[in-house]
Amino acid sequence: MIKKRIYLDNSATTPISKDVVKEMQKYFSESYGNASSLHYFGRQAKQAVESSRAKIAKLINAEIDEIIFTSCGTESNNLAILGVAKAYGDYGHIITSPIEHYSVLSPCNYLKNRNYQITYIDVNQSGIVSPTDLINSLQENTILISIMHANNEIGVIQPIEDIASKLYKINQTRKQKVYLHTDAIQTAGKLNINVKNLGIDLLSISAHKLHGPKGIGALYVKRGIKIFPILFGGHHEKNLRPGTENVLGIVGLSKSYEIAYNSLKDHYSHVLNLKRRLEEGILNDISDVTINTDKTNSLPHILNVSFKYIEGESLLLMLDMYGIAVSTGSACTSDSLNPSHVLTSIGLNTIAARGSIRFSLSYQNTLKEIDYVLSVLPKIVNDLRLMSPMWKKHTVY
Ligand code: PLP
Repeated sequence: MIKKRIYLDNSATTPISKDVVKEMQKYFSESYGNASSLHYFGRQAKQAVESSRAKIAKLINAEIDEIIFTSCGTESNNLAILGVAKAYGDYGHIITSPIEHYSVLSPCNYLKNRNYQITYIDVNQSGIVSPTDLINSLQENTILISIMHANNEIGVIQPIEDIASKLYKINQTRKQKVYLHTDAIQTAGKLNINVKNLGIDLLSISAHKLHGPKGIGALYVKRGIKIFPILFGGHHEKNLRPGTENVLGIVGLSKSYEIAYNSLKDHYSHVLNLKRRLEEGILNDISDVTINTDKTNSLPHILNVSFKYIEGESLLLMLDMYGIAVSTGSACTSDSLNPSHVLTSIGLNTIAARGSIRFSLSYQNTLKEIDYVLSVLPKIVNDLRLMSPMWKKHTVY
């Protein structure tokens, strides 16, 4: 019988914070107006949307009119990529990396099937893109670079500022300016995001990764960027994203971001401490493991580990029986039999990629929980290995 469940899948989604729920409560029942209505109820809703927009803009050092609300991070990424591509016409060139989330890779693939050229810039063994390689792959018709701020499976942080400053210099000499988009869905609320310091043109965020509600996201669009809508309807969100505003979601997004921002330093060190304990414990007590998360250049809350000779899915299910929730990679690809595209891109072979587990922590986790995980994990791994034909043959890979 499981007494308490331990949630270590915070990169898939996070529990909504009580303060966020409290803030949203009013907009479920009392303040139910449509933000486009002119009467009292509408004005109340509009006020909630606009003050949330102002709050988010301030937190990321953007202008208020540069924040566009969307339905999720996936939509923000689609709007950034397809919206810029549409604004530029029927063909062009986009540069991205092979370890992006599918909400970036899929719209790129869509464009590839429609006259666009897509370059996937290689990453090194840690998953880092080289800003120089990226700049060297620019073409005359390049319109956009989309590189994630940090990866959702292995947590590696990309050198966005370096890319932006190199691109800025190149853009001074180019007729066709190249925009820089970053998917900051895993970093918002974990790292300090200042769009001006980062030097980016477009940035995606999503509330449910930072203890906010699901189904709400935002796209930062720098003033002057040429971008078209990808949905058509009313004139909401500066004609860029039609649809009645999700007022309570928007309120939840801004509140969750505010809380995350105000406690960033404390949460960062707490979570990093937990991650170090987990990593050390695994390395000390279990043989044949590989840490797939870069030691220094990674998010504090993500630890990706390959356990040789066993399947990640089996390990996940066994941990679940002990009340511990982890994942084998991105939640969006959990129904796929293919090994993670992120892990294979950093050089893992299929067997090692299939034997991997992502632990993703939050400020709500405790040392006691990590110690419990470490008390059961070695035995689970050992039991699975005893059943594994790969272990019996001691396959070398
Ligand atoms: N990008 C990254 C890096 C993510 O981790 C996720 C969610 O897993 C997304 C995009 C998609 O965000 P959403 O679930 O809000 O659509």
